[in-house]
Amino acid sequence: MEHPENSEEYKGLTVNSGVVHPDSVNPYFKKRAARRPQLSVSDYVEGIVKGNVTVLSQAVTLVESLRPEHQAVAQEVIEKCLPYAGNSVRIGISGVPGAGKSTSIDEFGLHVLKDGGKLAVLAIDPSSEKTKGSILGDKTRMEKLSVHPNAFIRPSPSAGSLGGVARKTRETIVLCEAAGFDKIFVETVGVGQSETAVHSMVDFFLLIQLAGTGDELQGIKRGIMEMADGIAINKADGDNIPKAEMAAQSLRNALHLFPAPESGWTPRVVTYSGFYGLKIKDVWDMVWEYVDFVRKNGYFQYRRNEQSKYWMYETINESLKNGFYNDPVISARLEETERLVLGGQQTSFAAAHRLLEEYRARP
Ligand code: GDP
Repeated sequence: MEHPENSEEYKGLTVNSGVVHPDSVNPYFKKRAARRPQLSVSDYVEGIVKGNVTVLSQAVTLVESLRPEHQAVAQEVIEKCLPYAGNSVRIGISGVPGAGKSTSIDEFGLHVLKDGGKLAVLAIDPSSEKTKGSILGDKTRMEKLSVHPNAFIRPSPSAGSLGGVARKTRETIVLCEAAGFDKIFVETVGVGQSETAVHSMVDFFLLIQLAGTGDELQGIKRGIMEMADGIAINKADGDNIPKAEMAAQSLRNALHLFPAPESGWTPRVVTYSGFYGLKIKDVWDMVWEYVDFVRKNGYFQYRRNEQSKYWMYETINESLKNGFYNDPVISARLEETERLVLGGQQTSFAAAHRLLEEYRARP
């Protein structure tokens, strides 16, 4: 509308048209205020089954959440996804820091995706418990895979006990499978209990080794050797090739000394170079041959059944333990009881029994 002051008689004065105000001075404020609408259980399931990676990620976040209301939804989503899960080959990949896990997984991933399908890379990282940040599964460590349209990389859940973290990874496997991921890598650092956790959720356990100083068995804990379905000696490139071959031979000899595995499969040892992409195929020929072998002799399904049982009991144990230690009365009494034991006024067993009795008597 023409302003009266803009008329001839007010010469020298003009009134400008006003400036349109933005909805918000701080654009971020609005974003923050508009929260993502909460998805329902069926939204999650539908999104996941359709292969929607955004929904999958959100569901995994829910699985990892410690909040009881998130857990309740997560458990329902997992249960509804179960009928769609199971159609994958799950491969555990372990090795000490510096063995070349991330370099290798980048190459392994490209290799297994060459023939199509979808790959999820998950991780179990016990160190993240302390650092509250995850080292494994970091996207930046897998440059090629992280931009691959058919790869989904998820770092290790960081909160909770190793058992808890491992359970979350196992549940994430279910979601990924329901989303159509037919190859699952579970990475872990080869330093202790985490291999057992990974071993209990995969079909093939690959141990990445380095050629050492000749005494190859030295750095390898016996238990880990026994878990491995295959050992791959990395960094077999350049001058390192003869050393890697020698290491492979000595490992092969050592493996003969172990009792024959239940699967009927004798673990193999191969050499390769993750960095230069050499002999990657040898590693995967070994894996697929194993999968064929155990599918035919029934061990594949047997192992999965055993794992399901293992996780059922693990979950019961974990829940009983948490129930006990999180009980307000018990946790208040623990310190005092510990003092009595240390002071020699009570034996460890009597003290434990007394607390357990008390816990059982609680309403
Ligand atoms: P991770 O800690 O097990 O994940 O190991 P990384 O993948 O980060 O590798 C550790 C180091 O070893 C890096 O500096 C890599 O560049 C190097 N590396 C990994 N694979 C190879 C390989 O096949 N050959 C050589 N020469 N170096 C490698």
